[in-house]
Amino acid sequence: MTTSTDAFSYALEPSPAPVSDERRAEILANPGFGVHFTDHMFTSEWTPETGWADPTVKPYGPLMLDPATAVLHYAQEIFEGLKAYAHADGSIWTFRPDANAARFQRSAHRLALPELPEDWFIGSIDALVTTDRSWVPTGGETSLYLRPFMYASEAFLGVRPSKHVTYCVIASPAGAYFAGGMKPVNIWLSREYARAGSGGTGAAKCGGNYASSLLPQQIAAEHGCDQVVFLDSEEHQWIEELGGMNLYFVHDDGTIVTPASDSILEGITRDAIGTIAGDLGYKVEQRRFGIDEWIDGVASGHVTEVFACGTAAVVTQVGALRWPDGEAVTDVDGAGSVTMAIREALIDVQYGRAEDKHGWMHRI
Ligand code: PMP
Repeated sequence: MTTSTDAFSYALEPSPAPVSDERRAEILANPGFGVHFTDHMFTSEWTPETGWADPTVKPYGPLMLDPATAVLHYAQEIFEGLKAYAHADGSIWTFRPDANAARFQRSAHRLALPELPEDWFIGSIDALVTTDRSWVPTGGETSLYLRPFMYASEAFLGVRPSKHVTYCVIASPAGAYFAGGMKPVNIWLSREYARAGSGGTGAAKCGGNYASSLLPQQIAAEHGCDQVVFLDSEEHQWIEELGGMNLYFVHDDGTIVTPASDSILEGITRDAIGTIAGDLGYKVEQRRFGIDEWIDGVASGHVTEVFACGTAAVVTQVGALRWPDGEAVTDVDGAGSVTMAIREALIDVQYGRAEDKHGWMHRI
């Protein structure tokens, strides 16, 4: 069957064995994060000769990989993360998919992968969500998390950009990202390990960045922390970001600051928050922000709230920053008022409860 959403055409191979209505309802009532997947996935294949070809929505299932497949050896791989939200009138929307498409292209460029055109990126997501519409949860802060990814699928052990690339989108119903719900997260300061270096892949959303964050993340967990904050790799004093979220520092003079660096992932949530905070009357600064400025600012009361932001966890208050012999506590009950105001303003747009002044929402 060939079908299309607006201008994007794709083949549809419906799943012969979709999850039962009863089981799906059970999953949607308590989706967790990243554990359940919908009935279908989207795939497309690229070679230098064909370009992007065979766009298909097909039954969700395992990928067959030759043991020599390049991605398994050299990690030539990128991904994205965005969500589809059900609005009260039953319509389904994604948030700034054009920004994810552009970042996916920047990541592809850095990893020497072929760039996927924006209409394919958005079209593939629209196609999958349209097919698996019944999987978009409703109520509370639930959503359908979308994971587009692209990998070197050529079976070849030479070190060079792959001549066969696979693009795939999967979808997973999502509830709260942190198992503990909306309580503040505690952050471990990693001075020993860096996430990225200048000229490296920090600004790309590639699997390797996350692989290198796992050991420091494990160390953080051993110290009772939920996330790690990484510093720059040269001077070891400038704040970069968390393993999977950007940071904002709220100051007592109404300024909110987010670190500037060429080796962090430019978060789409962070960017939207910069605009929303401006709308709410805060002064937004993107500049280098030192670890001492964090610690001293909390001690002096100049830094009043710290929050982390990203698609999965939206906006989350930081409770404490911890290091081997100390801590800087900003929040104990998750009730930071600036953080909460920004959070509400953002999710009200995402869930269709507030006017979409900046044209961020895309209807599926
Ligand atoms: N930094 C890193 C390392 C991330 O993985 C993410 C999640 N994509 C973010 C920041 C936040 O980005 P976004 O707001 O686009 O989800």
